[in-house]
Amino acid sequence: MNNHYDIAVIGGGPAGATFAREITKTCPGLNIVLIDEKPRTGSKVCGGLLAPDAQKVLAQFDLDLPKSILADPQIFDVKTIDLVSGITRNYQRHYLNMDRASFDEWLLSLIPESVTVIRGRCTEIEDGFTLSVTADNKKLSLTADSIVGADGGASIVRRRFFKTCKKQYISIQEHFKDDGGDMPSYSCIYDPETSDSCSWTIRKDGYVIFGGAFDIKGGREAYFKQKARLEAHLGRSFGEATKIEACLLTSPRVARDFMLGKDRVFLIGEAAGFISSSSFEGISSAFLSGKYLADSFADKNILASYKRKTGRLRLKLLFKIPKMKILCSPPLRKLIMKSGIASIKKY
Ligand SMILES: Cc1cc2nc3c(=O)[nH]c(=O)nc-3n(C[C@H](O)[C@H](O)[C@H](O)COP(=O)(O)OP(=O)(O)OC[C@H]3O[C@@H](n4cnc5c(N)ncnc54)[C@H](O)[C@@H]3O)c2cc1C
Repeated sequence: MNNHYDIAVIGGGPAGATFAREITKTCPGLNIVLIDEKPRTGSKVCGGLLAPDAQKVLAQFDLDLPKSILADPQIFDVKTIDLVSGITRNYQRHYLNMDRASFDEWLLSLIPESVTVIRGRCTEIEDGFTLSVTADNKKLSLTADSIVGADGGASIVRRRFFKTCKKQYISIQEHFKDDGGDMPSYSCIYDPETSDSCSWTIRKDGYVIFGGAFDIKGGREAYFKQKARLEAHLGRSFGEATKIEACLLTSPRVARDFMLGKDRVFLIGEAAGFISSSSFEGISSAFLSGKYLADSFADKNILASYKRKTGRLRLKLLFKIPKMKILCSPPLRKLIMKSGIASIKKY
């Protein structure tokens, strides 16, 4: 096996899979390896909702979503619950409810065979670059001229070469058997007593998921406290959890949280900080940054080109920060929810 590559991509989520697919079109002939480790729980900590922005990018890629990736039910609104004021409102939404693991597998299946895909974990990157990888309980070593960090919120590429995004949450999710009762199909929960961010419940293929974003310090306690407060609000219990999972979740707060790369190391997707701080929607930005970096490799100055191409995306994500601050401010949120503006009436 040839162990030297032009580019090593760490991570095969929406960003890495898109980059690996698109680079074969813009720079055919490059020798590329993608290393991706799937979570041990078998599912990714994610709401698995495909937002209109991400749907639009799929259309731009001329990709149709296979039906097998959709989850049951499809939803048309979000029930927003403020646990402190007790106000609830419903807002129309246009998401697709998906099985996130199947979605990621589908994206990986679109990568041409000319790209070497290693199912394993990159554990170390030495200057130069030499990568240590664990796959099938075996240790591999490979070298690459360029590194693309597409390894999400807990990116080892970002930690190894750059400053991490200052604000990160721990996101905790539990799965419960759906008893078909009156649990909202999709809700967004605000509870400043336990988190300065938001939580959610989503019905998916016979399960109800309850998850949220919490301060890393004391996150577990805050999660269970909020769950009890939500159960009291709903007047019902979630029941016994079948699965609990957790991961780091990035929340960009200032322009320098978006890190594109330096020298021959590049970042895309959530590793670069490309995620909405107001809704945590990150799939569209992962797609776009993967595409922009792949296109930039055809240019002489890759980093300058990537910076130029991501300008609008970075601006859009910066505008999510004041939105997040408004939504997470108890008095402003109360005012908006009380006014009923943009909400829909349930019959
Ligand atoms: C709780 C939660 C809910 C969310 N809900 C939504 C939602 O409903 N809709 C939405 O659009 N966005 C959502 N997001 C955001 C979205 O999941 C991310 O922004 C998006 O997946 C980023 O794509 P990515 O390719 O950059 O990273 P990821 O999707 O995180 O992919 C990174 C990949 O790299 C792999 N990896 C990591 N480290 C290594 C390593 N060392 N070696 C090898 N492989 C590695 C990971 O296993 C993973 O497969 C949510 C995020 C969280 C945490």
